[in-house]
Amino acid sequence: MNPLRMPFWGVDAAWLFYLLAALAMACLGLGLWEKISLWRQGRRAAPAPSSKQALGPALADVLLGRRIWRGGRIAGLMHLMLLWGFLGLFLGTCAVAVDHYLISFLHGRVYLWFSAGLEACGLLLVLGLMLALARRWLLPVARLERRPDDTLLPLWLLAVACGGFMVEAARLAATAPPWGAWSFVGYGLAGLFPGPEAARELFPWLWWSHALVSLGFIAWLPWSKLAHAIAAPASLYLQGQPLAVLAVAAEEGDLAALGLRHLLHLDACTRCGRCVEACPSARAGEPFSPRDVLHRARRQARLKYSPLYRLPWLRGRRQALLERDRAAGWEDAWYCTTCRACLEVCPVQAAPIEMVRKLRAGLVEQGSAVPPPLMDTLEKLHRYGNPWVAKKGAKAAWAAGRDIPDLSRSGQEADWLYFVGCTTSIDTRAQGIARALSDVFTHCGVSFGTLGKKEPCCGDIARRLGEQGLMEEQIEATRDLLNGRGLTRLVCTSPHCFDTIKKVHPLFLEEGLPLRVLHYSQMLHRLWRQGRLTFDHPMPLKVTFHDPCFLARHNRIVDEPRGLLGAIPGLELVEMAEHGLNALCCGGGGGRMWHEIPGQANLAVRRLEQAAATGAELVVTACPLCLIMLEDARKTGGFEDKFGIIDLSELVARALRLTAAMDEEAV
Ligand code: SF4
Ligand code: SF4
Repeated sequence: MNPLRMPFWGVDAAWLFYLLAALAMACLGLGLWEKISLWRQGRRAAPAPSSKQALGPALADVLLGRRIWRGGRIAGLMHLMLLWGFLGLFLGTCAVAVDHYLISFLHGRVYLWFSAGLEACGLLLVLGLMLALARRWLLPVARLERRPDDTLLPLWLLAVACGGFMVEAARLAATAPPWGAWSFVGYGLAGLFPGPEAARELFPWLWWSHALVSLGFIAWLPWSKLAHAIAAPASLYLQGQPLAVLAVAAEEGDLAALGLRHLLHLDACTRCGRCVEACPSARAGEPFSPRDVLHRARRQARLKYSPLYRLPWLRGRRQALLERDRAAGWEDAWYCTTCRACLEVCPVQAAPIEMVRKLRAGLVEQGSAVPPPLMDTLEKLHRYGNPWVAKKGAKAAWAAGRDIPDLSRSGQEADWLYFVGCTTSIDTRAQGIARALSDVFTHCGVSFGTLGKKEPCCGDIARRLGEQGLMEEQIEATRDLLNGRGLTRLVCTSPHCFDTIKKVHPLFLEEGLPLRVLHYSQMLHRLWRQGRLTFDHPMPLKVTFHDPCFLARHNRIVDEPRGLLGAIPGLELVEMAEHGLNALCCGGGGGRMWHEIPGQANLAVRRLEQAAATGAELVVTACPLCLIMLEDARKTGGFEDKFGIIDLSELVARALRLTAAMDEEAV
């Protein structure tokens, strides 16, 4: 006997099945059409770039769940079981359709292996679903929510998979084909039926129940969380590609126009909560959740741009929901420190750091819900070119008494432009970094100069605060100055200036001299490797290093500062519990340096608690904002007699015995 498939065995009224299937497919089609229409609008607002190089990593992320494994083995295993189980059954169903309607190939040995393969996929899916439910209900993982659809979705899919096995078991019990054991799960379950007659009688009931549950699932699929299966691969493919600069147009109040990439992020999010677990603001108990920001933005995007909500009978509901969201406001967007910890852990690269920027841009454009101190900072940036003092030309004060060429003047030349940055040149504590660094450069024989009091703001603060127009002005002013003076080699004190000049300036200005930008830790590390920076005096100290977010996570610079620390004889580096790419943010980024909002926690104190646990005598960092935040927290958090805070440049200058820049009494 030739083993083969028996479609519609024991079932009457196949026409009814086709009718229901057509309805389910129509719902599926409608859901997909809505999503694609939305994404197409985003594509018009900001087309996404494409690259072949991004394809390989994206496929590895999707098919092997690379990023999911990073967050835990059980999560990785569960996702692989669900993905491969579901994918296998989907492809199997397509093969059955081809066999039934186009080319018959499912017979003989092919059919037997096909049956065994489908059994394995079904089993994988069932085990994955059980694990998913256990992680929510039996051994709950704190970051996972228990919303109704978080339970309904796995239960429904479980009903589909188990229903399929029971239908198969009833058929095998009724017909007892000699090859039945190849369908090993159904074969095992066939014993549950008292006899062939009972199985034959039950079969149509089981078949129709399975058909209804399965078709219902197909209809629900694009409206459920499973829609991430389409958006997440696209989001992963687009991540890491150059960011398109998006024109900001506040629309209907809150959310600025979104590009394709943003819209894909919104649909890719699986609500896994890893971003919440990693977010320093959420962890500190501030009223902010990156996951919720993304989901409110998703709802707003749908309400505003979905073609379905333009239907006359949905307009009233749309308006009511928009009003509700507007009343809730977006003030929580100001809690974000833009530390990128969420993106580091997000398995689909959807985390809301970019969305927060868009939200802030919308709020600033309207002038609403912007904390007053931030308005003051923006005002200073507009009028005086820095966020600190109402005084133009304050930027050169730190260099008084030093013979540093001012490269903004004609006739002055140097190999490197030292871009000091607003905070380093104006804040009295951070000025120590500029002085120490200029001493170290001079000691190493580096030919460098600054732009003196003409140094413009690089645009980072305006960018982080959502002031797109001002940011563009500042970027243009900086680039004009650099081009006019033929300056192409820059070394920055602040990781924030470094990040903005390196990544954002080229997006806005296609023309101009090609820039080579370094953070000073990279420059000093290079000098040390070239033998131009040597440490001859032992420094018996136990130190820990606080990685600035814009150095580590945003630019992957973690080894250079540690290399320098390791080069100082006698210095012992002890790491904090969270360091490198996982370092906890001190709370100085994202404009938080300049404002306080209700419920705001002192994130720097939390960071220093981790530092205190290492027993280090000194906390070293490499960013003026981190330095100020940590220095403040040392005083307010009661760490004054435990350790000192110092910038890496100051430590290097001290190790070279160039300066006593370190706060002596703090050590
Ligand atoms: S943004 Fe990413 S990390 Fe956060 S809930 Fe969504 S998928 Fe998870
Ligand atoms: S960038 Fe940092 S502060 Fe902002 S949402 Fe992500 S983890 Fe939270």
